[in-house]
Amino acid sequence: MTLDALLHECVDSGAQNNAPFVIYTDEDGQLLDTLPVCQDFNRGLCNRPACKFVHLQEGEGVEVVDNRVAVCRDAAKGQCSRSACKYYHIPVALPPAPVMAALSSYRH
Ligand SMILES: [Zn+2]
Ligand SMILES: [Zn+2]
Repeated sequence: MTLDALLHECVDSGAQNNAPFVIYTDEDGQLLDTLPVCQDFNRGLCNRPACKFVHLQEGEGVEVVDNRVAVCRDAAKGQCSRSACKYYHIPVALPPAPVMAALSSYRH
């Protein structure tokens, strides 16, 4: 998939599903340990379709510490065997690291 196609697909998904816009990796394309949670979304105030913070639905059981969630490495690798995981499962398939690095520089 090309970068343009990827971004276009993101735009179609709407404000509630901002997952494709969240910054999951650093500039080198490495997965971050924790992600910031969108404070506006918690109050029902976030209407940014391209919000780069995690939109966390209530009742998912994900532990939030200092307004951040820890990323579940197991889920990111493809399989998490915890029945009630308190770590955040990234809801989209991440492109390979070089693509993520290109994406993050593309947005800057
Ligand atoms: Zn938001
Ligand atoms: Zn997990």
